[in-house]
Amino acid sequence: MDTEVAIVGGGLVGGSLAVALADAGLSVALVDPRADDDLAASKSGGGQPAGQFDTRVFALRPQSRDFLAKCGVWRHVDASRVAPVYRILITGDDADSQLTFDAYRCGLPELALIAENGNLQNAIQRALDERTLVRQVRGRTCVAATWESGVVTISLDDGEAIAPQLVVAADGANSRIREFAGIANRQTDYDQCAVVANFSTGVAHDGTAYQWFRADGVLALLPLPGERVSMVWSTDQAHARELVSLDPGELAVRVSGASNTVLGELTTASQAVAFPLRMMGAASIVGPRLALVGDAAHNVHPLAGQGLNLGLADAQSLAAAIVQRGPDAIGSRAVLAKYRRSRAEETAAMQFTTDGLYRLFGSSLPGIPWLRNAGLRLTEHLTPLKRLLVKRAAG
Ligand SMILES: Cc1cc2nc3c(=O)[nH]c(=O)nc-3n(C[C@H](O)[C@H](O)[C@H](O)COP(=O)(O)OP(=O)(O)OC[C@H]3O[C@@H](n4cnc5c(N)ncnc54)[C@H](O)[C@@H]3O)c2cc1C
Repeated sequence: MDTEVAIVGGGLVGGSLAVALADAGLSVALVDPRADDDLAASKSGGGQPAGQFDTRVFALRPQSRDFLAKCGVWRHVDASRVAPVYRILITGDDADSQLTFDAYRCGLPELALIAENGNLQNAIQRALDERTLVRQVRGRTCVAATWESGVVTISLDDGEAIAPQLVVAADGANSRIREFAGIANRQTDYDQCAVVANFSTGVAHDGTAYQWFRADGVLALLPLPGERVSMVWSTDQAHARELVSLDPGELAVRVSGASNTVLGELTTASQAVAFPLRMMGAASIVGPRLALVGDAAHNVHPLAGQGLNLGLADAQSLAAAIVQRGPDAIGSRAVLAKYRRSRAEETAAMQFTTDGLYRLFGSSLPGIPWLRNAGLRLTEHLTPLKRLLVKRAAG
């Protein structure tokens, strides 16, 4: 089979792009180091026993769900493990400063959906298995990429070389393809980690996602099915190390206190894990016969829960640009320019917003705490602005 598109990286973004391109009739090679054995584990119910949940969960906006539904992935998602978010309650660093978003008031069925990494990976894998146009090159890594006389060739660690019309870098934040192409990137190291862990709650969450902008970072509790929540606490390195080292009982007490026991007494239901945080933007998301998608193209602070949403929108836009120009123009400049243009505004806006919020709420300069809390209170009372924010966030 001739390969029209080679996607390097079979994470959520690369995998869903492969499905979308196969549905458009393109032959795709999807390269990922994860072996078939790892995938077999995830095929059995998302890899988690009933009643236990992944610590990696994502808040998906409706636009991302719609894209996954359109390319036949969503029907494989185990709906019993997905939680809708009907309400978001944001609290500033004085308890009176609150901002609420309500799906009902905005005329939406929900504001977001919380889904586990394993559940989504499993659904993408099942969709890939149904598509004969995708060659799944598993257990192998891309070790080089060269551009010569208008031809791009990627080399795999077993010696195989693939020369497609287009290479897509979906290989994550430390993208080797981006490096092989010599594409520079701007990075800001936040000197923070996001600590994630799951808890059982003492009080029903009723589909509310909570977020507190605190002096020691941003704490979020996202609803999971049943009386459970997933925590993302973005905080400085020392505090993150401390949180991860606490025993389950101490961690539950700490998080119950930090969340003002809005969900009653919490019980730790998983190990706490820390992820380092940074902002990154590739100098260009395209090159000759090359497109960058997902974390290979940009990383944003998780306080807005938008990194994967941006990546899925990249996949959707790239697939649309290719389909619009037809099979003879797959890696053409016209397609790549259209893709670049289509992603510029949203990506820049998201980086600006998440970085701005991080700085606004991380600052203790005189006047800034008053300003941010006043901003929350003011926005709370501006109904049209709130509607606009929800509309933008929902895509
Ligand atoms: C704590 C935390 C919470 C988050 N919460 C949210 C949220 O609520 N909502 C949201 O939208 N986003 C969220 N994000 C962001 C989200 O996790 C990422 O944006 C998303 O997972 C990126 O997916 P990806 O497929 O682009 O990259 P990755 O998931 O990093 O996948 C890259 C793939 O490439 C493969 N690969 C790497 N190198 C090679 C190579 N040389 N050859 C072949 N394959 C290779 C890897 O094996 C991997 O499978 C969060 C992030 C963090 C840290």
